[in-house]
Amino acid sequence: MTAINDLEVGFDVPAVPGMDEADIQTPCLVVDLDALERNIIKMGKIAKDMGVRHRVHGKMHKSVDIALLQEKLGDSCGVCCQKVSEAEVFARGGIKDVLVSNQVRDPKKIERLAKMPKLGARVIVCVDDIDNVADLSAAAVKEGTQLECLVEIDCGAGRCGVQAGQPVVDIAKAIEAAENLKYAGIQAYQGAMQHMEHFADRKEKTAIAIEMVASTIEMLKAEGIESDIVGGGGTGSYYFEGASNVFNELQCGSYAFMDADYQTIRDESGEKITDFENSLFILTSVMSHTKADKAIVDAGLKAQSVDSGLPYVFGRDDVEYIKCSDEHGIVADANGVLKINEKLKLVPGHCDPTCNVHDYYVGVRNGKVETLWPVSARGKAY
Ligand code: PLP
Ligand code: MN
Repeated sequence: MTAINDLEVGFDVPAVPGMDEADIQTPCLVVDLDALERNIIKMGKIAKDMGVRHRVHGKMHKSVDIALLQEKLGDSCGVCCQKVSEAEVFARGGIKDVLVSNQVRDPKKIERLAKMPKLGARVIVCVDDIDNVADLSAAAVKEGTQLECLVEIDCGAGRCGVQAGQPVVDIAKAIEAAENLKYAGIQAYQGAMQHMEHFADRKEKTAIAIEMVASTIEMLKAEGIESDIVGGGGTGSYYFEGASNVFNELQCGSYAFMDADYQTIRDESGEKITDFENSLFILTSVMSHTKADKAIVDAGLKAQSVDSGLPYVFGRDDVEYIKCSDEHGIVADANGVLKINEKLKLVPGHCDPTCNVHDYYVGVRNGKVETLWPVSARGKAY
């Protein structure tokens, strides 16, 4: 690997440590390190105060450096990943407790998963089909490793997961009986409610999920099966699962960076949530201003995901990002205040898929570039 000092700014990387923030090449991802650290510390304390563990969702940032920081400053117990290749990046990077919060069915992927404990990590995977149990077990036996399994409940999201109750008990028993597998608990993430605007709606949906999980745990206990992990919860719901006395592991991801979409949801008193700060920005530069009331910036579709809406310009209410095409962003500038080469910080509409289209995070503090972190699992979608 090339030493960081041999990297060419502008070609290999958008910046190197020690540079002035003003010299960063755009468009790129910039992380406000003070804000990131405050978010991580805050969530660590919230989880501790609620008496639950926090297994951060690594699919959000896909960065080994940030996952390690979440361990160090936020006392996270490990990471969640969505893909086997993503999990491999974290395990190779030194994360010792990795949950693939997803189903793994392809034989080659199962083989890779079964090899992963050899990297020194505890490896946990979700199961929602009894047929999957034999395949996971055979691969773990072949590799001489142990895989831990969570039975996933569909608690309202309508994607993977079995119905609560007996189907969970049946799969848990099959896992317990399978060689080289260990039943580790329940996965119950209600993904369809995280971004609902109103607190009462999110609370209602989570209450349903909590009830499903609680009754299933009772059924498992009646069969003598204990659930070490009861995991779920995200940035829009962690306070419900965390206080439930049913869940014992949260899985928040976006809280560390935040994004424009999450900032539209409201707290109990009807105010927009402010529990976490924006720490992630797409830094962009004005490159054309031939129309009096519009500036063209260099961050378009290829610098971000707009599935959850357009970004907004951080700290400015006089200009507005109104449209984008592949390589251009159009910023309404009614008063014609923007100058060529002026830099703007955009808060992405949706942080996770935005991070996945960049190679690096440029970490800044006090006007200086302090770190350059690779988006380690970028593109690891297989
Ligand atoms: N857990 C799982 C399984 C997820 O898929 C996600 C995100 O989609 C999360 C937790 C929470 O993420 P966030 O905090 O970004 O809402
Ligand atoms: Mn997301």
